[in-house]
Amino acid sequence: MKILVINSGSSSLKFQLLNTLGLSPVISGMIDRIGVKQSKFSYTLYRGKEIVNKIDQFSYIKDTTDAFKLLIDMLQNSGVINASTDLTAIGHRVVHGGDQFNQPVLITGSVLDSIRKNIPLAPLHNPANLKGIDICRETFPAIPQVAVFDTAFHQTMPEKAYRYPLENTLYGEHKIRRYGFHGTSHQYVANCAAQVLDKSVSQLNLITLHLGNGASAAAIQAGQSVDTSMGMTPLEGLMMGTRCGDIDPGIIFYLARNSELDFDEIDSQLNHQSGLYGICGLNDMREIQQQAEHGEKHAKLAIEMYCYRIKKYIGAYFAILGRLDGLVFTAGIGENSQTVRLLVCQGLEHFGIHIDPKKNNITINSATEIQTNESPVKILVVPTNEETEIARQTLTCI
Ligand code: AMP
Repeated sequence: MKILVINSGSSSLKFQLLNTLGLSPVISGMIDRIGVKQSKFSYTLYRGKEIVNKIDQFSYIKDTTDAFKLLIDMLQNSGVINASTDLTAIGHRVVHGGDQFNQPVLITGSVLDSIRKNIPLAPLHNPANLKGIDICRETFPAIPQVAVFDTAFHQTMPEKAYRYPLENTLYGEHKIRRYGFHGTSHQYVANCAAQVLDKSVSQLNLITLHLGNGASAAAIQAGQSVDTSMGMTPLEGLMMGTRCGDIDPGIIFYLARNSELDFDEIDSQLNHQSGLYGICGLNDMREIQQQAEHGEKHAKLAIEMYCYRIKKYIGAYFAILGRLDGLVFTAGIGENSQTVRLLVCQGLEHFGIHIDPKKNNITINSATEIQTNESPVKILVVPTNEETEIARQTLTCI
Protein backbone atom coordinates (compact mmCIF):
# COMPACT_ATOMS: atom_id res chain seq x y z
CA MET A 1 0.00 0.00 0.00
CA LYS A 2 1.15 3.52 -0.78
CA ILE A 3 0.49 7.08 0.20
CA LEU A 4 0.54 9.98 -2.24
CA VAL A 5 1.67 13.44 -1.09
CA ILE A 6 0.58 16.40 -3.20
CA ASN A 7 1.80 20.00 -3.09
CA SER A 8 -0.23 21.82 -5.71
CA GLY A 9 1.01 25.37 -6.33
CA SER A 10 -0.02 28.10 -8.74
CA SER A 11 2.49 27.11 -11.43
CA SER A 12 3.94 23.86 -10.11
CA LEU A 13 2.82 20.48 -8.86
CA LYS A 14 5.15 18.62 -6.51
CA PHE A 15 4.43 15.03 -5.57
CA GLN A 16 5.84 12.04 -3.76
CA LEU A 17 4.58 8.48 -3.55
CA LEU A 18 5.75 6.63 -0.43
CA ASN A 19 5.33 3.12 0.90
CA THR A 20 2.86 3.20 3.78
CA LEU A 21 5.12 0.84 5.67
CA GLY A 22 8.29 2.70 6.69
CA LEU A 23 7.48 5.77 4.55
CA SER A 24 10.26 5.02 2.08
CA PRO A 25 9.97 6.91 -1.22
CA VAL A 26 8.78 5.12 -4.37
CA ILE A 27 8.73 8.05 -6.74
CA SER A 28 9.08 11.80 -6.26
CA GLY A 29 9.05 14.73 -8.61
CA MET A 30 7.62 17.93 -9.87
CA ILE A 31 5.79 19.44 -12.80
CA ASP A 32 7.11 22.98 -13.09
CA ARG A 33 6.29 26.05 -15.18
CA ILE A 34 2.68 24.98 -15.75
CA GLY A 35 1.11 27.29 -18.35
CA VAL A 36 4.55 28.36 -19.63
CA LYS A 37 5.65 27.39 -23.19
CA GLN A 38 8.17 24.82 -22.04
CA SER A 39 6.86 23.08 -18.89
CA LYS A 40 9.13 20.58 -17.16
CA PHE A 41 8.06 17.22 -15.76
CA SER A 42 10.82 15.60 -13.77
CA TYR A 43 10.71 12.60 -11.47
CA THR A 44 12.94 10.15 -9.68
CA LEU A 45 12.22 6.45 -9.09
CA TYR A 46 13.59 4.73 -5.99
CA ARG A 47 14.23 1.18 -4.91
CA GLY A 48 14.66 1.27 -1.14
CA LYS A 49 16.60 4.49 -0.61
CA GLU A 50 18.54 4.00 -3.84
CA ILE A 51 17.74 6.08 -6.91
CA VAL A 52 17.10 3.80 -9.90
CA ASN A 53 16.06 6.28 -12.56
CA LYS A 54 15.77 10.04 -13.12
CA ILE A 55 13.59 11.37 -15.88
CA ASP A 56 13.13 14.88 -17.31
CA GLN A 57 10.47 15.61 -19.92
CA PHE A 58 9.69 18.94 -21.56
CA SER A 59 6.35 19.80 -23.16
CA TYR A 60 3.66 22.45 -22.87
CA ILE A 61 1.29 21.70 -19.98
CA LYS A 62 -1.49 24.25 -20.09
CA ASP A 63 -3.02 24.04 -16.60
CA THR A 64 -3.19 22.18 -13.28
CA THR A 65 -5.87 19.78 -14.61
CA ASP A 66 -3.55 18.66 -17.41
CA ALA A 67 -0.62 18.44 -14.99
CA PHE A 68 -2.60 16.04 -12.75
CA LYS A 69 -3.66 13.99 -15.77
CA LEU A 70 -0.03 13.61 -16.78
CA LEU A 71 0.99 12.67 -13.24
CA ILE A 72 -1.75 10.08 -12.79
CA ASP A 73 -1.05 8.54 -16.23
CA MET A 74 2.64 8.30 -15.35
CA LEU A 75 1.90 6.68 -11.95
CA GLN A 76 -0.35 4.11 -13.61
CA ASN A 77 1.77 3.48 -16.74
CA SER A 78 4.99 3.03 -14.77
CA GLY A 79 3.22 0.39 -12.70
CA VAL A 80 3.86 2.04 -9.30
CA ILE A 81 0.09 2.22 -8.80
CA ASN A 82 -1.87 -0.62 -10.40
CA ALA A 83 -5.30 0.31 -9.11
CA SER A 84 -6.64 3.20 -7.08
CA THR A 85 -7.03 0.68 -4.23
CA ASP A 86 -3.20 0.59 -4.03
CA LEU A 87 -3.46 3.97 -2.33
CA THR A 88 -4.03 4.15 1.42
CA ALA A 89 -4.52 7.91 1.42
CA ILE A 90 -3.58 11.19 -0.23
CA GLY A 91 -2.01 13.95 1.87
CA HIS A 92 -2.26 17.52 0.60
CA ARG A 93 -0.09 20.41 1.67
CA VAL A 94 -2.36 23.38 2.39
CA VAL A 95 -0.62 26.66 3.09
CA HIS A 96 -3.14 28.55 5.24
CA GLY A 97 -5.39 26.94 7.80
CA GLY A 98 -6.12 30.24 9.58
CA ASP A 99 -6.90 29.71 13.27
CA GLN A 100 -9.29 26.82 12.60
CA PHE A 101 -6.74 24.04 12.13
CA ASN A 102 -4.07 23.07 14.62
CA GLN A 103 -3.58 19.59 13.19
CA PRO A 104 -4.15 17.65 9.96
CA VAL A 105 -7.77 16.86 9.10
CA LEU A 106 -9.65 14.44 6.91
CA ILE A 107 -11.00 16.51 4.03
CA THR A 108 -14.79 16.94 4.05
CA GLY A 109 -17.11 19.53 2.53
CA SER A 110 -16.90 21.72 5.64
CA VAL A 111 -13.08 21.51 5.69
CA LEU A 112 -13.06 22.67 2.06
CA ASP A 113 -15.35 25.59 3.04
CA SER A 114 -12.90 26.60 5.77
CA ILE A 115 -9.92 26.43 3.40
CA ARG A 116 -11.90 28.57 0.95
CA LYS A 117 -12.66 31.11 3.71
CA ASN A 118 -8.92 31.46 4.27
CA ILE A 119 -8.24 32.45 0.65
CA PRO A 120 -7.92 36.16 1.53
CA LEU A 121 -5.07 35.21 3.89
CA ALA A 122 -3.20 33.24 1.16
CA PRO A 123 -4.62 34.44 -2.17
CA LEU A 124 -1.99 32.70 -4.31
CA HIS A 125 -1.60 29.46 -2.41
CA ASN A 126 -4.96 28.28 -1.05
CA PRO A 127 -6.80 28.35 -4.43
CA ALA A 128 -4.02 26.28 -6.01
CA ASN A 129 -4.11 23.83 -3.07
CA LEU A 130 -7.92 23.57 -3.39
CA LYS A 131 -7.66 22.87 -7.10
CA GLY A 132 -5.35 19.91 -6.41
CA ILE A 133 -7.72 18.56 -3.74
CA ASP A 134 -10.73 18.84 -6.09
CA ILE A 135 -8.98 16.94 -8.88
CA CYS A 136 -7.76 14.19 -6.53
CA ARG A 137 -11.24 13.80 -4.99
CA GLU A 138 -12.73 13.42 -8.46
CA THR A 139 -10.05 10.96 -9.61
CA PHE A 140 -9.90 8.88 -6.43
CA PRO A 141 -13.34 9.29 -4.79
CA ALA A 142 -12.92 6.29 -2.49
CA ILE A 143 -9.47 7.25 -1.11
CA PRO A 144 -9.30 9.26 2.14
CA GLN A 145 -7.68 12.65 1.62
CA VAL A 146 -6.05 14.69 4.35
CA ALA A 147 -5.10 18.38 4.53
CA VAL A 148 -1.81 19.15 6.30
CA PHE A 149 -1.48 22.86 7.04
CA ASP A 150 1.71 24.93 6.98
CA THR A 151 0.27 27.06 9.75
CA ALA A 152 -0.95 24.27 12.08
CA PHE A 153 2.26 23.66 14.07
CA HIS A 154 2.38 27.32 15.14
CA GLN A 155 -1.18 27.33 16.52
CA THR A 156 0.34 26.64 19.95
CA MET A 157 1.78 30.19 20.05
CA PRO A 158 0.42 32.09 23.05
CA GLU A 159 -1.78 35.13 22.38
CA LYS A 160 0.98 37.54 23.45
CA ALA A 161 3.11 36.13 20.59
CA TYR A 162 0.50 35.85 17.87
CA ARG A 163 -1.26 39.19 18.35
CA TYR A 164 -0.05 42.41 16.72
CA PRO A 165 -0.29 45.54 18.85
CA LEU A 166 -3.19 46.83 16.73
CA GLU A 167 -6.74 47.77 17.61
CA ASN A 168 -8.79 44.76 18.75
CA THR A 169 -11.35 45.11 15.95
CA LEU A 170 -8.65 44.45 13.34
CA TYR A 171 -8.06 41.11 14.99
CA GLY A 172 -11.75 40.37 15.59
CA GLU A 173 -13.08 41.40 12.19
CA HIS A 174 -10.13 40.86 9.89
CA LYS A 175 -8.24 38.07 11.68
CA ILE A 176 -5.11 40.17 11.58
CA ARG A 177 -2.71 38.16 13.70
CA ARG A 178 0.46 36.16 13.29
CA TYR A 179 0.04 32.60 11.94
CA GLY A 180 3.54 31.49 10.94
CA PHE A 181 4.47 29.13 8.08
CA HIS A 182 6.89 26.27 7.26
CA GLY A 183 5.22 24.46 10.18
CA THR A 184 5.63 21.00 8.66
CA SER A 185 9.36 21.57 8.24
CA HIS A 186 9.92 23.04 11.73
CA GLN A 187 8.00 20.12 13.26
CA TYR A 188 9.86 17.51 11.19
CA VAL A 189 13.35 18.80 12.02
CA ALA A 190 12.47 19.25 15.70
CA ASN A 191 11.43 15.57 15.86
CA CYS A 192 14.58 14.49 13.99
CA ALA A 193 16.76 16.55 16.34
CA ALA A 194 15.10 14.86 19.32
CA GLN A 195 15.90 11.44 17.82
CA VAL A 196 19.54 12.38 17.24
CA LEU A 197 19.82 13.71 20.79
CA ASP A 198 18.06 10.59 22.09
CA LYS A 199 15.43 12.63 23.94
CA SER A 200 11.70 13.07 23.66
CA VAL A 201 10.92 16.31 21.80
CA SER A 202 8.76 17.30 24.81
CA GLN A 203 11.97 17.51 26.87
CA LEU A 204 13.66 19.93 24.49
CA ASN A 205 13.83 23.68 23.90
CA LEU A 206 14.96 24.33 20.35
CA ILE A 207 15.45 27.14 17.88
CA THR A 208 14.84 25.82 14.38
CA LEU A 209 16.04 27.81 11.37
CA HIS A 210 14.42 26.96 8.04
CA LEU A 211 16.73 28.79 5.62
CA GLY A 212 15.60 28.21 2.05
CA ASN A 213 14.42 30.66 -0.56
CA GLY A 214 11.75 31.48 2.01
CA ALA A 215 13.17 31.57 5.53
CA SER A 216 11.77 31.42 9.04
CA ALA A 217 12.88 30.77 12.60
CA ALA A 218 10.82 29.06 15.30
CA ALA A 219 11.14 28.98 19.07
CA ILE A 220 10.11 25.52 20.23
CA GLN A 221 9.50 24.97 23.94
CA ALA A 222 8.94 21.41 25.15
CA GLY A 223 8.23 20.40 21.55
CA GLN A 224 5.66 23.12 20.89
CA SER A 225 6.02 26.23 18.77
CA VAL A 226 5.83 29.28 21.04
CA ASP A 227 6.94 31.87 18.48
CA THR A 228 7.96 32.07 14.86
CA SER A 229 9.31 34.78 12.61
CA MET A 230 6.77 34.73 9.76
CA GLY A 231 3.55 36.47 10.61
CA MET A 232 0.16 37.00 9.05
CA THR A 233 1.92 36.45 5.70
CA PRO A 234 5.29 34.91 4.83
CA LEU A 235 6.73 38.42 4.37
CA GLU A 236 7.55 39.06 8.05
CA GLY A 237 10.71 37.95 9.80
CA LEU A 238 14.09 36.93 8.41
CA MET A 239 15.67 38.37 5.27
CA MET A 240 14.89 35.92 2.44
CA GLY A 241 15.79 35.23 -1.18
CA THR A 242 13.55 37.95 -2.57
CA ARG A 243 11.37 38.92 0.43
CA CYS A 244 12.43 41.73 2.70
CA GLY A 245 11.43 40.25 6.08
CA ASP A 246 11.11 42.76 8.94
CA ILE A 247 11.01 46.40 7.85
CA ASP A 248 9.47 49.53 9.29
CA PRO A 249 5.83 49.46 8.02
CA GLY A 250 6.18 53.24 7.65
CA ILE A 251 8.32 52.56 4.55
CA ILE A 252 5.21 51.35 2.70
CA PHE A 253 3.34 54.61 3.36
CA TYR A 254 6.41 56.64 2.49
CA LEU A 255 6.76 54.82 -0.86
CA ALA A 256 3.04 55.14 -1.58
CA ARG A 257 3.23 58.91 -1.05
CA ASN A 258 6.65 59.71 -2.47
CA SER A 259 7.53 57.19 -5.21
CA GLU A 260 6.13 56.26 -8.61
CA LEU A 261 5.15 52.84 -7.30
CA ASP A 262 1.46 51.97 -6.96
CA PHE A 263 0.06 49.62 -4.32
CA ASP A 264 0.66 46.38 -6.30
CA GLU A 265 4.15 47.48 -7.31
CA ILE A 266 5.09 48.10 -3.68
CA ASP A 267 3.74 44.63 -2.83
CA SER A 268 5.82 43.14 -5.64
CA GLN A 269 8.89 45.18 -4.61
CA LEU A 270 8.78 43.81 -1.04
CA ASN A 271 7.99 40.21 -2.07
CA HIS A 272 10.02 39.74 -5.24
CA GLN A 273 12.74 42.38 -5.48
CA SER A 274 13.99 42.60 -1.91
CA GLY A 275 15.94 40.37 0.48
CA LEU A 276 19.23 38.99 -0.85
CA TYR A 277 18.18 39.92 -4.38
CA GLY A 278 17.48 43.51 -3.39
CA ILE A 279 20.94 43.95 -1.90
CA CYS A 280 23.11 42.16 -4.46
CA GLY A 281 20.92 41.34 -7.47
CA LEU A 282 21.10 37.57 -6.85
CA ASN A 283 18.92 35.29 -4.74
CA ASP A 284 20.86 32.04 -5.09
CA MET A 285 23.13 31.73 -2.05
CA ARG A 286 25.66 29.60 -3.98
CA GLU A 287 26.20 32.40 -6.50
CA ILE A 288 26.21 35.06 -3.78
CA GLN A 289 28.93 33.21 -1.87
CA GLN A 290 31.02 32.91 -5.03
CA GLN A 291 30.68 36.63 -5.73
CA ALA A 292 31.54 37.46 -2.11
CA GLU A 293 34.67 35.28 -2.33
CA HIS A 294 35.71 37.38 -5.35
CA GLY A 295 35.31 40.48 -3.21
CA GLU A 296 32.01 41.76 -4.66
CA LYS A 297 30.91 44.20 -1.97
CA HIS A 298 27.13 43.92 -2.41
CA ALA A 299 27.32 40.13 -2.19
CA LYS A 300 29.40 40.46 1.00
CA LEU A 301 26.90 42.90 2.48
CA ALA A 302 23.96 40.62 1.55
CA ILE A 303 25.53 37.70 3.46
CA GLU A 304 26.42 39.92 6.43
CA MET A 305 22.88 41.28 6.65
CA TYR A 306 21.36 37.82 6.20
CA CYS A 307 23.35 36.34 9.08
CA TYR A 308 23.02 39.42 11.31
CA ARG A 309 19.24 39.25 11.08
CA ILE A 310 19.20 35.52 11.90
CA LYS A 311 21.39 36.27 14.94
CA LYS A 312 18.89 38.84 16.20
CA TYR A 313 16.13 36.21 16.15
CA ILE A 314 18.34 33.69 17.95
CA GLY A 315 18.93 36.29 20.67
CA ALA A 316 15.22 37.04 20.97
CA TYR A 317 14.21 33.39 21.06
CA PHE A 318 16.94 32.56 23.56
CA ALA A 319 15.40 35.19 25.83
CA ILE A 320 11.92 33.71 25.39
CA LEU A 321 12.98 30.09 25.94
CA GLY A 322 15.23 30.73 28.94
CA ARG A 323 17.07 27.46 28.35
CA LEU A 324 18.23 26.37 24.92
CA ASP A 325 19.07 22.74 24.17
CA GLY A 326 19.56 22.86 20.43
CA LEU A 327 19.92 25.13 17.42
CA VAL A 328 18.79 23.41 14.20
CA PHE A 329 19.69 24.45 10.65
CA THR A 330 17.60 23.20 7.73
CA ALA A 331 16.47 23.82 4.09
CA GLY A 332 18.68 24.70 1.10
CA ILE A 333 20.91 27.28 2.80
CA GLY A 334 20.74 25.83 6.33
CA GLU A 335 21.69 22.35 5.09
CA ASN A 336 24.37 23.38 2.60
CA SER A 337 25.96 26.72 3.44
CA GLN A 338 28.90 26.21 5.77
CA THR A 339 29.57 29.95 5.51
CA VAL A 340 26.12 30.97 6.73
CA ARG A 341 26.12 28.46 9.60
CA LEU A 342 29.56 29.66 10.73
CA LEU A 343 28.73 33.37 10.52
CA VAL A 344 25.42 32.85 12.34
CA CYS A 345 27.05 30.96 15.23
CA GLN A 346 30.24 33.04 15.56
CA GLY A 347 29.93 35.44 18.49
CA LEU A 348 27.19 33.43 20.22
CA GLU A 349 29.63 31.56 22.47
CA HIS A 350 28.39 33.45 25.55
CA PHE A 351 24.98 31.86 24.83
CA GLY A 352 26.62 28.44 25.02
CA ILE A 353 26.62 28.07 21.25
CA HIS A 354 30.03 26.77 20.14
CA ILE A 355 30.25 25.61 16.52
CA ASP A 356 33.05 23.22 15.57
CA PRO A 357 34.47 24.61 12.28
CA LYS A 358 35.78 21.18 11.24
CA LYS A 359 32.45 19.40 11.79
CA ASN A 360 30.70 22.29 10.06
CA ASN A 361 32.98 22.01 7.06
CA ILE A 362 31.62 18.81 5.58
CA THR A 363 28.80 17.93 3.19
CA ILE A 364 25.88 16.83 5.31
CA ASN A 365 23.37 14.26 4.04
CA SER A 366 21.68 13.18 7.25
CA ALA A 367 20.96 14.75 10.65
CA THR A 368 24.37 15.67 12.11
CA GLU A 369 25.70 17.50 15.18
CA ILE A 370 28.27 20.22 14.46
CA GLN A 371 29.00 21.70 17.91
CA THR A 372 32.26 21.33 19.83
CA ASN A 373 32.42 18.64 22.50
CA GLU A 374 32.19 21.34 25.23
CA SER A 375 29.24 23.24 23.74
CA PRO A 376 26.28 23.33 26.18
CA VAL A 377 23.92 23.95 23.23
CA LYS A 378 23.80 21.30 20.53
CA ILE A 379 23.98 22.57 16.96
CA LEU A 380 22.39 20.35 14.37
CA VAL A 381 22.04 20.27 10.61
CA VAL A 382 18.90 18.33 9.69
CA PRO A 383 17.82 17.81 6.08
CA THR A 384 14.14 18.71 6.00
CA ASN A 385 11.62 16.37 4.41
CA GLU A 386 8.20 17.96 4.29
CA GLU A 387 6.79 15.13 2.12
CA THR A 388 7.66 12.46 4.67
CA GLU A 389 6.19 14.60 7.46
CA ILE A 390 2.97 15.17 5.45
CA ALA A 391 2.77 11.41 4.80
CA ARG A 392 3.33 10.65 8.51
CA GLN A 393 0.70 13.15 9.60
CA THR A 394 -1.74 11.86 6.94
CA LEU A 395 -1.36 8.31 8.22
CA THR A 396 -1.81 9.42 11.83
CA CYS A 397 -4.93 11.32 10.81
CA ILE A 398 -6.62 8.41 9.06
P1 AMP B 1 15.25 25.77 -0.80
O1 AMP B 1 14.20 26.84 -0.95
O2 AMP B 1 15.17 25.04 0.49
O3 AMP B 1 15.34 24.86 -1.98
O4 AMP B 1 16.66 26.55 -0.75
C1 AMP B 1 17.12 27.31 -1.82
C2 AMP B 1 18.37 28.05 -1.39
O5 AMP B 1 19.38 27.12 -0.96
C3 AMP B 1 18.99 28.86 -2.52
O6 AMP B 1 19.39 30.14 -2.03
C4 AMP B 1 20.23 28.06 -2.86
O7 AMP B 1 21.25 28.87 -3.37
C5 AMP B 1 20.62 27.54 -1.50
N1 AMP B 1 21.58 26.44 -1.63
C6 AMP B 1 21.40 25.22 -2.17
N2 AMP B 1 22.56 24.53 -2.17
C7 AMP B 1 23.51 25.33 -1.63
C8 AMP B 1 24.92 25.20 -1.34
N3 AMP B 1 25.59 24.10 -1.63
N4 AMP B 1 25.54 26.25 -0.75
C9 AMP B 1 24.87 27.38 -0.44
N5 AMP B 1 23.56 27.56 -0.68
C10 AMP B 1 22.88 26.56 -1.26
